[in-house]
Amino acid sequence: MINHHPSDEMILGYAAGSLSAGQAMVIHCHLELCPHCAARLKQAEALGGALIETLEENEPSGVNFDDLISEIDAMSIAEPEILLASEDHKSAHFTQLQKEENTPNLLLDFLGHGLADIQWKMVGPGIRQYVLPMESSEGEKVRLLKLSPGFVTPQHSHQGSEMTLVLKGSFCDETGRYASGDIQEADDGLDHQPVADTDEDCICLAVTDAPLEFKSVISRLMQPIVGI
Ligand SMILES: [Zn+2]
Repeated sequence: MINHHPSDEMILGYAAGSLSAGQAMVIHCHLELCPHCAARLKQAEALGGALIETLEENEPSGVNFDDLISEIDAMSIAEPEILLASEDHKSAHFTQLQKEENTPNLLLDFLGHGLADIQWKMVGPGIRQYVLPMESSEGEKVRLLKLSPGFVTPQHSHQGSEMTLVLKGSFCDETGRYASGDIQEADDGLDHQPVADTDEDCICLAVTDAPLEFKSVISRLMQPIVGI
């Protein structure tokens, strides 16, 4: 059961194609796992379509946005289809991995294999990462993180934004508990200390647009070395 969903801003940005490559990837992966947000996306797309139609039919000054919003609200939202990529070119192996690991197809396509075959790099005791080799906006990094059971992330704040999608296992911080499929959006205001739950490894897909600001001296010294 997914409890934490992306903000409206992210869903609208995805619908409009205005997100960065890394943000779009994380949102796309969440949409594959979350029928609720797949329905929100349809709504956002309908809103965008209706807006364009209305603007074409009317002078911009003639648009009544309240009417437009009620029109959209009244639209029946079809049973959400999960956004699974076309099966035609997908090998049976990938389909099996998608089922077993609950890994989004987009990520499987990008990696060319499942989570079990990732070449992790040790960042420190209890934390490994794999930085995705993707072209993205300046300063943006997309990485997979693997936290050992019970791993305590150093307390940190953010210079920019960070969006994290849990793929496997779970973690908790000051804002709640995040398990498979949950998404956390952190911005400048969040100062937190995520702790992985103790039953299994926690694997997340995270996008950051600026380095995190770690609090402790050791973490600060490590930061240029590990590049988080
Ligand atoms: Zn969702």
